Amino acid sequence: MTQAFDIIIVGAGMVGAALATGLGQQGVKVALIDRATPADFDEHASPDIRVSALSAGSERYLQSLGAWPGILAMRATPYRRLAVWDETPHPLSKLLPGTLTQVEFNAANLGASHLGHIVENSITQRALWQTAEREPDVSLFTGQAITALHQTAESATVSLEDGNQLSAQLVIGADGALSQVRDMSGIGVTRDQYQQQAMVISVRYQGEVEDITWQGFFPSGPRAFLPLHSAGSNNPGESWGSLVWYDSPDRLAELKAMDDQQLMAAITKAFPKRLPTLTHIDASASFPIARQHAKHYFSHRVVLAGDAAHTINPLAGQGVNLGFQDAQCLQGLLKEARRNGDDLASSHWLKLYEQQRRPANRRMMLAMDLFYHLFSNAIPPVHLARNIGLGAARALPFARNRVARYAMGLDDQPPALIRELANRLPIPNWL
Ligand SMILES: Cc1cc2nc3c(=O)[nH]c(=O)nc-3n(C[C@H](O)[C@H](O)[C@H](O)COP(=O)(O)OP(=O)(O)OC[C@H]3O[C@@H](n4cnc5c(N)ncnc54)[C@H](O)[C@@H]3O)c2cc1C
Repeated sequence: MTQAFDIIIVGAGMVGAALATGLGQQGVKVALIDRATPADFDEHASPDIRVSALSAGSERYLQSLGAWPGILAMRATPYRRLAVWDETPHPLSKLLPGTLTQVEFNAANLGASHLGHIVENSITQRALWQTAEREPDVSLFTGQAITALHQTAESATVSLEDGNQLSAQLVIGADGALSQVRDMSGIGVTRDQYQQQAMVISVRYQGEVEDITWQGFFPSGPRAFLPLHSAGSNNPGESWGSLVWYDSPDRLAELKAMDDQQLMAAITKAFPKRLPTLTHIDASASFPIARQHAKHYFSHRVVLAGDAAHTINPLAGQGVNLGFQDAQCLQGLLKEARRNGDDLASSHWLKLYEQQRRPANRRMMLAMDLFYHLFSNAIPPVHLARNIGLGAARALPFARNRVARYAMGLDDQPPALIRELANRLPIPNWL
């Protein structure tokens, strides 16, 4: 049996579920498919190992979809301060006192109540499933992957594992970095594996919930702390946190082989001194890190969004924030297409989507690469240059705060000078 929709979204991760909600609210008949079925929220359960720093811009988008109250009702941790500093031990470090090269952003100085929220991915996804389910025009197909995708001049048809078929004018591939939709529609990628991997560790620590997220840059990669919620009455005086340890695959293999006690000792030794006292390691997982960009964002009746279109180095936590920007842009253009009575897969609108999103995603990828290369080495001139850069950022609070307001999604536009510089940046063809 074939059921007909306007749009099929494959992948109900954070980006796909946001798109389904937004399109459903515009009166589009949407089928939202995911091979997984998320577990119910349990306030006593340990946090999801995957957490994201959601920017103020993402919060506004999630508010507009009606998902933000659901996220807050489960749990989200606002952070009001963000600090970064260089931890490379080198004789030249002594030229500049450590405190001079630490840059700290504070919401109060940026005229904001907070800089962003740390939210478990499963909570954002669950809240968005709830908003999607509330839309009468959205149908969810969960617990099954797609097995085939066929496109004709009139429509696209997706086959599900249970043998059912769904057809629509447009298929949105929001099925993550290993997107099957992307492969099935013949869209290639450019991919570069970084020499570092990331290990994420869920921990409990002694103390109140922190309002700061920080990252110390070591030559082998950054080590970061993200605050989570209180550990509750079973663990009085303790809070949850998420640590991210970027290092070489060999070093991460050593860490993975350790038991909890050994890992705790290794973290305490390797992490910056300001790490609160850890009391418990709950879970850990490691992720390869790659920069990947789809060669095209659309092909015939298929368009890509979120990680299916691009993955970036997570060191500044921008991945899903970019995905939400894709979703907002695509949603807006499809609204125009419908208003014009156009085919939703019209290349006119999909081209506009790619023209708007590709340069923005590419710029963020380049910025992350710059950070990665600047901070992941101990060559003396580079070391000195980045410390001077951090010192300058510290000394120029006005310019720094303008840039920070944009980077954290508090402002929609970057300062004019930065906009001008970014537009002049040469962009390599391979990106
Ligand atoms: C270590 C680490 C830290 C990160 N930290 C941050 C951060 O702080 N801030 C931030 O913004 N980003 C962060 N990111 C990136 C962020 O996690 C991703 O950008 C985000 O999850 C992408 O969302 P998505 O919905 O596009 O894809 P995904 O989250 O990958 O969701 C894809 C969905 O598609 C489904 N699916 C896949 N294949 C099929 C199929 N064949 N059929 C049906 N369903 C399918 C999956 O079940 C899944 O639900 C981090 C990433 C890593 C690795």
